[in-house]
Amino acid sequence: MHKKSITIALAGNPNSGKTTIFNSITGTRQKVGNWPGVTVEKKEGLISKFGYDLKIVDLPGTYSLTPFSIEEIVARDFVLEECPDVVIDIIDASNLERSLYLATQLRETDCKVIFALNMADVALTKGTKINAEKLSELLDLPVVFTVGNKNEGIDTLLTKAIELAGSPAKIQQKRKVKYSKDIENAIVKLQDFIENKVKAKLAYNLRWTAIKLLENDKIVKERILLKAGDKRDELLQEIHALRSHLMDRFNDDPEIVMTDERYGFIAGIIKKTLTSSSQNRVDISRNIDFFLTHRYLGFPIFILFIWAMFQLTFSVGAYPMDWIDRGVNLFATELNNLLPDSVLKDLIVNGIIPGVGSVIIFLPNILILFFCIAVFEDTGYMARAAFLMDRIMHVIGLHGKSFIPMLMGFGCNVPAVVAARTLESEKDRILTILITPFMSCSAKLPIYIVLAGAFFSAKAGTVIFAVYLIGIIVSIVSGRLFRTTLLKGADAPFVMELPPYRAPMISSLLIHMWDRGKIFLKKVGGVILIGSIIIWALSAFPVNIRYSLDYASEIVRVETLYEAEITAAGKFERDVIEKKKDMAIAKLIMARRAEKTEKSFLGKIGKSIAPLFAPLGIDWRGSVALLTGIVAKEIVVSSMGILYAVEKEPDALQSALVKSDITPLSAFSMMLFVLLYLPCIATMGTIWRETGAFKWMLFSVLYSTSLAWIVCFCVYQGGKIIGIN
Ligand code: GDP
Ligand code: MG
Repeated sequence: MHKKSITIALAGNPNSGKTTIFNSITGTRQKVGNWPGVTVEKKEGLISKFGYDLKIVDLPGTYSLTPFSIEEIVARDFVLEECPDVVIDIIDASNLERSLYLATQLRETDCKVIFALNMADVALTKGTKINAEKLSELLDLPVVFTVGNKNEGIDTLLTKAIELAGSPAKIQQKRKVKYSKDIENAIVKLQDFIENKVKAKLAYNLRWTAIKLLENDKIVKERILLKAGDKRDELLQEIHALRSHLMDRFNDDPEIVMTDERYGFIAGIIKKTLTSSSQNRVDISRNIDFFLTHRYLGFPIFILFIWAMFQLTFSVGAYPMDWIDRGVNLFATELNNLLPDSVLKDLIVNGIIPGVGSVIIFLPNILILFFCIAVFEDTGYMARAAFLMDRIMHVIGLHGKSFIPMLMGFGCNVPAVVAARTLESEKDRILTILITPFMSCSAKLPIYIVLAGAFFSAKAGTVIFAVYLIGIIVSIVSGRLFRTTLLKGADAPFVMELPPYRAPMISSLLIHMWDRGKIFLKKVGGVILIGSIIIWALSAFPVNIRYSLDYASEIVRVETLYEAEITAAGKFERDVIEKKKDMAIAKLIMARRAEKTEKSFLGKIGKSIAPLFAPLGIDWRGSVALLTGIVAKEIVVSSMGILYAVEKEPDALQSALVKSDITPLSAFSMMLFVLLYLPCIATMGTIWRETGAFKWMLFSVLYSTSLAWIVCFCVYQGGKIIGIN
């Protein structure tokens, strides 16, 4: 039997719980977060329930159907053009008034709408009572109470939605927002004009179109003008005439008057349906905010949180990291003893294991970092951080909202760049996208840990924190620069929204953490594995190279030399000489290996780019490692693992680094270069896609890389001049 299929769209304000309900219905695990703008793209889920095939679509949050930002356009286009069978408007019951604005607009379209009064639990503790029956009656649509994160009311909601989808369409016509007489007249006139004069076949509801045209909605206007054909100019004139008539009548833009009237309508509904007893209203959020967004305390607390996050990532992460490291080493030693000598063994022991092994040990750090970010997101602190940064962001001519993508950049730049969609202005968006990559992403963390751990041991955490801070400063300074040159414009006035604090759902935190962990592991098994193999191959070939020294006979010579000494020496001194002999031979073997890499293809590549990096204190091995980082930043560590490390002992890479020519100063310079230079391929692609222009991606690449070079040059050369090593 063929089941009936129904498309249900979830619409609602940002942060009203849409994704939570989406997950609860579909059983998937989309990311939820307690700040506006988490879902910037619509997501779909398919399930079979109650004998129907349901397609559930999670739309980005919007406050209205007036398209100010990409996410609002995505949501509106879906509702208007794909005509879902039912739209569930998810309403934050603890914030009814604000939610109703979108609701009234949804009612103006032809869609079948059902209300989910979500966050019913919050409304209850706040002491707000909503008369659902009255609300349902006034707006002529079904209303269901839900608690998204506890799965309450979801089944009822679904049954009602299915019922509504099956009901005849036309009963929805009453109870639209009634505007004042002049506006209603204008709407009717315009409707008439479109229907009878222009005779355009419209995709959307006629009344809605007329309203939007009177509101001077650019997108709707463009679309209808396309359809108007030779009646184009006449239509434009008619719209203009009606608008100026209204303008004369109200002394204000029609869109403002209509917004006012919608709010009037909403106020009426609120009066009839909402009772709030203010005695038992416990506003914990406000109390917490007294400290966390305090004028003077707020900022130090924010810095403290970020600092604590990195300390936690670094110090707690060190333990499991050590265990994994030991496991990897044990595995390597076993394999080394087990396998017969061959190219394959060389590939595994000197290519794959150091390459993949040196990255995989950072899994715990990555998990902890993302856990911390998830806590910030889910509790609602993220929005506070943006609020705090608002003042600083204004220096660049952006508002605090831009800081959310930037903060997300600490995790991964790809979703961060996408998150910039929440910004209304195109210029703001591009500006934010350009400065986000300076927020050091988690893939760079392993590089810092390796270098800082090797050269700044006890102060490693603080040095890493400083690197992150420098990233923030660079992004702000760059932002200021772009704002005054490339992307001139004033910042739009904006009120940062502070959602109430919520205790994070542990399951959601763990899921988020694990999702990122999975992405990391996939990268390790994919691009990093392949990268390691390529780097190894480049370093292992060509096989027949001419050494500057005949190492084999040199080893024999040294051996016989010491043997003679040993037989000549007294019993007492033999051990010492024996040790000396071993060391001399080990040194020769190392030297041969070093020369081999140097004369390999990789060495040639490195040598040819090395002059570019020499003034920054980065040797040819470092240069190659940085080059490989273009693919994915984690590979830098793999490359270093293959290029520097030779011995199979715990902490092989770090001790090998210490023994190399790298000094603390040049290590710091390299960290800064990693921080600032061009983003990875995935981020580049995302920048291209999100800005819609190749030139911005190219600009981002060139700007960041040259900036990295200049900064490192100044730091390294400056450091040398004042005598730091
Ligand atoms: P969206 O932006 O509309 O997709 O909202 P999310 O689904 O990301 O949810 C925002 C926050 O509200 C998350 O922290 C959820 O855990 C929380 N949340 C969702 N529904 C409820 C609810 O009914 N009650 C309470 N107390 N919290 C909820
Ligand atoms: Mg969402």
